[in-house]
Amino acid sequence: MRSHTEYLWINTKDRYDIVNITPQVEEALSKSGVKEGLCLVNSMHITSSVFINDNERGLHKDFLVWLEKLAPYGKDKYQHNLTGEDNGDAHLKRTIMGREVVVAITKSILDFGPWEQIFYGEFDGQRKKRVLVKIIGE
Ligand code: ZN
Repeated sequence: MRSHTEYLWINTKDRYDIVNITPQVEEALSKSGVKEGLCLVNSMHITSSVFINDNERGLHKDFLVWLEKLAPYGKDKYQHNLTGEDNGDAHLKRTIMGREVVVAITKSILDFGPWEQIFYGEFDGQRKKRVLVKIIGE
């Protein structure tokens, strides 16, 4: 069995952002040489997400607006912020959008459904954060 591990570094210029990381994951897959297997992609931070959806800008704005309604930013809104942090909203947003995705690898490519792409969701950005890509198979 082959195994390949890679860490992607992401530093968004805005506090909230959605970034298409599919090209970087495809590059990692190409380096791995795996033809049949599984690819795990996960955020290594508890205030950002990895998820799969459509690569459509309007939808990405819809996600951010929707998340802001569910868990609005606010220093005085969350028990968590009593610790001195201001990212209580980001922890909740991360939980809703998820930690990781697993994609099947078939004949050396990510076996996506129509329109599927992998995105990194940042909810407390403007600093360096890591995404793990782990590929296993043959
Ligand atoms: Zn926090």
